[in-house]
Amino acid sequence: MPDATPVLEISNLHKAYGSLEVIKGVSITARKGDVVALIGSSGSGKSTVLRCANLLEDSQQGEILFKGEPVTWRGEGLGRHPADPAQVLRIRTNLSMVFQQFNLWAHMTILQNVMEAPVTVLGRNRAEVEPIARKYLDKVGIGDKCDVFPAQLSGGQQQRAAIARALCMEPEALLFDEPTSALDPELEQEVIRVIRDLANEGRTMMIVTHDMKMAADVSDHVVFLHQGLIEEQGPPETLFGAPKSERLQQFLSSTN
Ligand code: ADP
Ligand code: MG
Repeated sequence: MPDATPVLEISNLHKAYGSLEVIKGVSITARKGDVVALIGSSGSGKSTVLRCANLLEDSQQGEILFKGEPVTWRGEGLGRHPADPAQVLRIRTNLSMVFQQFNLWAHMTILQNVMEAPVTVLGRNRAEVEPIARKYLDKVGIGDKCDVFPAQLSGGQQQRAAIARALCMEPEALLFDEPTSALDPELEQEVIRVIRDLANEGRTMMIVTHDMKMAADVSDHVVFLHQGLIEEQGPPETLFGAPKSERLQQFLSSTN
């Protein structure tokens, strides 16, 4: 029987920066194999939701459950933070993040970049991790770039290396924050192809993107955020084909 427990469940999330409330009660569920796209204008809170989900940011209210296990909190309001560092590590390493700016280590080869976190964060053995790292670099189509440094790669290749690095953690889900925004249009496609392959093999993913074509292409569920609230959500056919909210209609007509 398939496991019905969601991989990630965010419920009634609230987040403020000082007196500025930026997430005002957002709930999102990702079950195994779900691809959830998060869309919305700049400043609507998309990155903040992802960063709260993998506990890079504290949040003031709401629950975050990883495979049914609720984050345990200490303190209240602006002082609330996760109580258990081991739990934070477990959740963060299982929700691997891919950023807009790749964030590869410039002084390490591509292979070293991909092997770094499994070895230093998870304490895995180098000899055991290396073939896994090579496997994921092959998978994203840059298996021949193991021994070069990031600066020798194109942006699209660097982002594919960053995806291989996230995969090498063998996480339960991948979180992408605008993975193609820093790329020239012709390089975007090679990254989108990799993301589409990952979706087709049933990986659980949450993808923040400005690229409505990619969202329509790879996601099962689209969430449109407006000023820290979910304005509309549903399957891509409905959200892009027959948007109900006027704000979403306006947003979609401004993105082409
Ligand atoms: P998006 O990713 O949708 O563009 P963000 O989640 O980055 O939006 O930001 C949501 C809101 O939170 C914006 O108003 C932004 O200015 C604010 N914000 C984001 N990060 C910080 C921060 N570190 N300190 C203060 N305000 C922030
Ligand atoms: Mg953002």
